[in-house]
Amino acid sequence: MKLLNKILLVSAIILAVLVTVLTVLSALSLRQFSIYTAERHARSVAETVKVGLTESMINGTIKKRQQFLTRMSGIPGVNEVRVARGPAVVAQFGPGFATEDAVHHDVKQVLSSGREIFELVEVNGELIFHAVIPYIASDQGIPNCLQCHTVRAGTVLGAIQVDIPFTEVRHQGLIAVALVSVAVLVAALVALALLRRMMGPLSETAKAVHEVTSQAVEGDFGGRVRQRSSDEVGDIASNINRLLEFLQREVRTIRDRVGELMNFQVKEGGNQLVHTTELVETLVEASQFKQAIEEDQTKAEIYQRLADMLSRKYRIQRFSIYEVASSKNRMAAMSIDGDAAATCRYCDPQVMVDANFCRARRTGKEVNGVAFPGLCTMFRPGAEGDTHVCLPINQSGSAGAVVQIITGADQGDLASRLVPFVNVYLREAGPVLEAKRLMEHLRENSLRDPMTGLYNRRFLEDYVGALVSSSQRRKASFAALMLDLDFFKQVNDTHGHEAGDKVIKTLADLLARSVRGSDFAVRYGGEEFLVVLVDTGIEPALKVAEKIRAEVEATRIPLPNGILQKTISIGVAEFPADADTFWQVVKFADVALYKAKASGRNRVMRFLPEMWDEDGAY
Ligand code: GH3
Ligand code: MG
Ligand code: MG
Repeated sequence: MKLLNKILLVSAIILAVLVTVLTVLSALSLRQFSIYTAERHARSVAETVKVGLTESMINGTIKKRQQFLTRMSGIPGVNEVRVARGPAVVAQFGPGFATEDAVHHDVKQVLSSGREIFELVEVNGELIFHAVIPYIASDQGIPNCLQCHTVRAGTVLGAIQVDIPFTEVRHQGLIAVALVSVAVLVAALVALALLRRMMGPLSETAKAVHEVTSQAVEGDFGGRVRQRSSDEVGDIASNINRLLEFLQREVRTIRDRVGELMNFQVKEGGNQLVHTTELVETLVEASQFKQAIEEDQTKAEIYQRLADMLSRKYRIQRFSIYEVASSKNRMAAMSIDGDAAATCRYCDPQVMVDANFCRARRTGKEVNGVAFPGLCTMFRPGAEGDTHVCLPINQSGSAGAVVQIITGADQGDLASRLVPFVNVYLREAGPVLEAKRLMEHLRENSLRDPMTGLYNRRFLEDYVGALVSSSQRRKASFAALMLDLDFFKQVNDTHGHEAGDKVIKTLADLLARSVRGSDFAVRYGGEEFLVVLVDTGIEPALKVAEKIRAEVEATRIPLPNGILQKTISIGVAEFPADADTFWQVVKFADVALYKAKASGRNRVMRFLPEMWDEDGAY
């Protein structure tokens, strides 16, 4: 029940009780007053009768007393006056007139008890105030009763019955009570109306405050309370309005600012406060995410964190993360549904060999298959109704990686709705991935010879420890091939330095092709190379060396002034058979190379201990 109705109901009950009590009280007091007045009237009449009868006795006209009584009965306000003789008078003077017999029970009662009776009785539909007053013998005054009556003072001589009409009195009384009641009722109704009028603004304001605060709880601060009065209630309305205006303005500002940061326009409607809090939380978490990935060592760890974010935070079960290899414009799967080792599942494999087939990679923009089904022809749905959204991770203006989110037919536009949130993370990840990519690139370059692309001596220094300990642990051997072009100076001298460079590059390419993935070729000096064949004994190593030598001999290098063919000499030594340290093995391979040169060039020589012994310090 509303506050106003409650107050009005309670007030109405109180007023109703008041009206009733007042009506009853006024009715009772009026009745009391009327009876009191009638009683006095009856006593006056009785006293007059008594005086009249006494006068009649003295004057000797007692026999005509009936005439006197009849006249008394005729005076206004009196219905009937009768006199009854008591037993003492009857005994002294006889029974008197028949009208003076004590017929009525109440008269007899008064004659025997000497106590007066007053009562209201109904006679023929008329209300009568019926008074029976005893006539008691008194020895006071002159004349007094005992002068005629031979009785003792205090004897009941008779009873005077006075009937006073009471219907009209009652009628007037009822009218008076009715008037009082109506007046009180009117006053009560006026009081109620006034109360309602005074309580109206409070009730309306309370209702309006309830409505606008309920809306505010739902994030809608647009409601306002009408100020209905200029008292405290009006102040409440005014303050609530100021508070709502403040909240509306500030929440909108925060929402818009956060939206700008997220590059995302929050729609009007819905719970603005909840939306804004979600956005702020996303920004905070994305910032923490950025700090975490900055401390990660590899790109793989960052991709793993992205995968965790998609699956744990946003409950996306199916997704792909692809990285674009910068040099070759290929794509590689970094995580498929959280599995770092899985291969492309939701795209045509063509995108792996040519990243430009990927629309998100090509355009650097979001590709939304939910909003525009069939937009990307490379998408391969896993099941009927599957759809996708592909988001580029931009690095220096182009997509360095692509995140693909796949949702099923039962997930509606979930992917679309998550895009703004996921994008916040991707924007944070972009520069960090780029920095990591740059670092890896720099590191890779610092370990390679820029002219040939082969590893340099720095790489060798970094790698040696791991190679030797791994070979020792596995009790494996490796072979070192030291290679040097024969009479290379002549190339420079005859064809120029550029031609010399071309010969060196040609040889480097040949070496890179000739060794397995686990082996490596190092540009050791100007036209001197070192090839390390991992897990390889001396015999297979000699075969590889011979193959290289033969290929070099057979290679025809086109130069501006003709075709050039060169030969190469190779020295081979083995770990741990020849020496148990890497650098000693390299040294021995070099000794063997020296021997190959000395014994005519264009040949492969394996290191023999006597080579070292023969030449001492070499
Ligand atoms: P040998 O058969 O005894 O090896 O005779 P060689 O002429 O090849 O002698 P050596 O190996 O000592 O010659 C090295 C020459 O290679 C010296 C240098 O001018 C040249 N050279 C070293 N690095 C480069 C390079 O990067 N480019 C060019 N064009 N020449 C280089
Ligand atoms: Mg040489
Ligand atoms: Mg040399």
